[in-house]
Amino acid sequence: MGGARRAGAAPSGSSHAVVIGASMAGLLAARVLADHFRRVTVVERDRLPDQAAPRKGVPQSRHIHVLLVAGRTILQDLFPALGGELEDAGVRPIDAGQDFEWLTPAGWSPRFQADLGVLTCSRDLLDQAVRRQVETLAGVEILQETEVTGLLLDAARTTLTGVEVRRRAAAADGEAGHADPEAKRLAADLVVDAAGRTSKTPTWLEQLGFPVPEETVVSASLGYASRLYRRPAAGAQPWDCVYLQAAPPHRTRAAVIFPIEGERWIVTLGGGGGDYPPTDEAGFEAFMHSLASPIVHEALSGAEPLSPIYGYRATENRWRHYERLSRLSEGLLVLGDAACTFNPVYGQGMTTAARGALALAECLREQRRRRPDGDLTGLARRFQRSLAKVNEAPWLMATSEDVRYRTVEGTPPGRITRWMHWYLDRVTAASTHDIALRRVLLQVLHMTRPPSALFRPGNARRALLRKRPTGAPGV
Ligand SMILES: Cc1cc2nc3c(=O)[nH]c(=O)nc-3n(C[C@H](O)[C@H](O)[C@H](O)COP(=O)(O)OP(=O)(O)OC[C@H]3O[C@@H](n4cnc5c(N)ncnc54)[C@H](O)[C@@H]3O)c2cc1C
Repeated sequence: MGGARRAGAAPSGSSHAVVIGASMAGLLAARVLADHFRRVTVVERDRLPDQAAPRKGVPQSRHIHVLLVAGRTILQDLFPALGGELEDAGVRPIDAGQDFEWLTPAGWSPRFQADLGVLTCSRDLLDQAVRRQVETLAGVEILQETEVTGLLLDAARTTLTGVEVRRRAAAADGEAGHADPEAKRLAADLVVDAAGRTSKTPTWLEQLGFPVPEETVVSASLGYASRLYRRPAAGAQPWDCVYLQAAPPHRTRAAVIFPIEGERWIVTLGGGGGDYPPTDEAGFEAFMHSLASPIVHEALSGAEPLSPIYGYRATENRWRHYERLSRLSEGLLVLGDAACTFNPVYGQGMTTAARGALALAECLREQRRRRPDGDLTGLARRFQRSLAKVNEAPWLMATSEDVRYRTVEGTPPGRITRWMHWYLDRVTAASTHDIALRRVLLQVLHMTRPPSALFRPGNARRALLRKRPTGAPGV
């Protein structure tokens, strides 16, 4: 994928694509579509803030959002000016090995230079920076305060011809906006649903007489509670980030202190298996006190809170299997959380959305090779199958960990999963001493290497023989 398309370089080919939702998946899809469509309209229900600020449609931005290294690389490739923009806003990368104080289920991780740079910014800032990049693309328009309320079909009832939209009157802070009673039609050659986990496409398809995708749901009943704090002066702590990882089924509680712009910390407490962290002051404090290490509580004692405590519980893994549908509407694609959401604790959502955008780019190029006339027949099926492949590895990583919780909703772990738990426990234990193995584990967690890297003979030997220590510097 090349860099951002310069203004004025309108591509030939199909004419108008509509994207539902201007969050991460929708913005990245718009970037890719801009290379193939003369016009791209991103329709967003919310009013988009001028500043890096939370908004109703992305309530998860109140909680920690780590962009994995693989996702960072894709974003940088799609938007070459993004890194500079974030840097100007004060964002610096920290190293996933050296700068993290990380309690794994098997003990503290060694600190070492892993060469995996993690951006220290809020989700709101990242969204704003990506949005600004998209706004510079020729032919792309973001239609704010406009809700997509339905899909439109051609007379043969096989192909989408656009969407039905309603303007939403601006809402006062904290109040719901109200929709314009008059719906309008927005014609499109392609509609991309990136409306997130509350996507209405299954309902709309049913109303139009199309089959509805099957869903696979695996829920670890995880809850988050998050709060912003003023960050003490640099160097006050011998780390940049703390992560106390849960160790299900016995240790259900987790916590992160993560630096973000504006000299702030975002602190997220997590509890799996229904052990939800409270959102009242006393409960939040008590939960913090109960963690596997006092490091979080100690770091925050005396720190100034800068926000209320926000809770979040819609964290299940949910895969809507569009790739399995016997009949798909031509001209409709579904990606991002609208197609597949993951337990957020593994931080895979934005990176998987980015990989989905790359899959879309590849499918569009292939479509153009097959149909230079701009006909989009067959694109929907090919894309949903290609996206399913993208979703496979993160799905496996998230769900196979989540089934460790005794209360998990979904299929109980089979023999292969139990064997994987046994093996990964050995990897984790060995990687508290073995830097080479820890590096591979971090690369897998940051999606720069596939999970199969952990099973390569050399790494399996390190995991199973548990040599200690490796004597590399920095341990
Ligand atoms: C608590 C939590 C923490 C997370 N932490 C991480 C993390 O650390 N790292 C990571 O990579 N990912 C994380 N994720 C996942 C990440 O937030 C999502 O994967 C990411 O936002 C991509 O989602 P999306 O763009 O598909 O949908 P969303 O972000 O949900 O956005 C959907 C957009 O569509 C709009 N919309 C919805 N319906 C309509 C409509 N009918 N018409 C017009 N607009 C509409 C909404 O207003 C919104 O803007 C986390 C998720 C949660 C819940």
